[in-house]
Amino acid sequence: MNKNLDRLNALMGEVMDLRHTASMLEWDERVYMPRGGAQTRSLLLASVRRIAHEKFISKEVGELLAALRTGVDGQDPTSETARLVAVTARDYEKATRVPASFVAEHAEITSMAQHAWQEARAKSDFTMFAPHLEKIIGLKRRYVSFFAPTDHPYDALLDDYEPGLKTKEVETLFDALRPRQQDLIRRVAERPQVSDRLLHLGYAEQGLWDFGVQVATAFGFDWTRGRQDKSAHPYTTDSGPDDVRITTRFEAQQPFMTVFATMHETGHALYVQGVDPRWRRTALEGGASLGIHESQSRLWENLVGRSLPFWQHFWPVLQGQFPSELGGVALEEFHRAINRVQPSLIRVEADEATYNLHVMLRVEMEIAMLGGALSVNDLPRLWNEKMRDYLGIVPPDARRGILQDIHWSIGLMGYFATYTLGNVISAQLWERFSSVEPRRDEQLRRGDFSSLLAWLRREIHQHGRRYEPQALVERVTGSRIDPLPYLRYLERKVEEAYGA
Ligand code: ZN
Repeated sequence: MNKNLDRLNALMGEVMDLRHTASMLEWDERVYMPRGGAQTRSLLLASVRRIAHEKFISKEVGELLAALRTGVDGQDPTSETARLVAVTARDYEKATRVPASFVAEHAEITSMAQHAWQEARAKSDFTMFAPHLEKIIGLKRRYVSFFAPTDHPYDALLDDYEPGLKTKEVETLFDALRPRQQDLIRRVAERPQVSDRLLHLGYAEQGLWDFGVQVATAFGFDWTRGRQDKSAHPYTTDSGPDDVRITTRFEAQQPFMTVFATMHETGHALYVQGVDPRWRRTALEGGASLGIHESQSRLWENLVGRSLPFWQHFWPVLQGQFPSELGGVALEEFHRAINRVQPSLIRVEADEATYNLHVMLRVEMEIAMLGGALSVNDLPRLWNEKMRDYLGIVPPDARRGILQDIHWSIGLMGYFATYTLGNVISAQLWERFSSVEPRRDEQLRRGDFSSLLAWLRREIHQHGRRYEPQALVERVTGSRIDPLPYLRYLERKVEEAYGA
């Protein structure tokens, strides 16, 4: 059996090398590549990905996995070897059940749909995008059929991002969050509003960048195994735990986005840098799921990075960076501004209290589309109704409504829920951490994050993909994914800022 495992690890090592090569080529494309290189790069990336895919779905990998699975039968299914084999086998099955012709058709349809979406959004005309969306839903239904039977067709889409999680579980979670978040927003609307004008003054990009680097360093980002650059959309990528790339961006209208994006991406990066070196170049190397990954980024960005104790340490540092803009501003005023609640049209600009409602609206529509309960022509009307119902505002046009996100046009469905799962799980972890570390806030006030990072390393990071999300959350917090800690956190925060 060890011989089979060694052989599998050798083959998977090569597959992972090729995937990492693709990630680095993609990173270069977003960060450095001259525009003229676009066509060559897309061919290059397609070749590398195809070779990685062919290597992975080879007969030999299939036979090794089959032999290893019989070998681990009767063993503890949570043992390291059993989980390594199970996770690799699960990826293998997903990769082999979907025919190559489908993958090609998916690429073709979404490439056209993406262009149509761009044009439709520019003209704010949903009817230009509708026939493409119709085709994409058809594709998704076919994709689901490769994994039949499922309790709900949407399960198959969700499973790509949240292994093992069911549509029913997501719906139950949303049903618990929705009314209390709606209520919270209504209460805030009745209170005197908080101004965030000071966040929109002119701030020098370099000063924000330098401050972000200081924060990332204090969080524990290892600069000998990672770096930060700029890209149009901040993100994190890697070629394994020893080389993790994060990006941020500067926008004159939202200057502090530079800092919060750095905190967010540092959260993702710390997860990757913390995976046990033994899982290098194996299927267990990444994060447990997108939701767990997002719980790490949100924890550092929001639970830590928007908290008063954090700013009690970093406020003088930021003031030192911007003496003329912030020298005369009270810490409490800044803290209230970065925690302002304001229903808005655009998801990516939404605050913590309203964000989940943007997500729910999209996921509910996806579930209904997949279930066949909704026709594409009804979508704009339903979108506006839900916006009014959840956030109390109605988009004046499709551009700031149903056409705002790229996801559907590139065939990403089943993905949005991971944002809300990340928020919810981050608060569960935060509560758990404070019960094992009563000096949490005192440490934050000193700018000392070592105990938090050590705890996350031990409980979450080192395990990589060994546990499925529900099992991991239960292992760490003693309960499954649970909305109550997040609601408690939000309600307390809003009460502090608004007295509501
Ligand atoms: Zn993220």
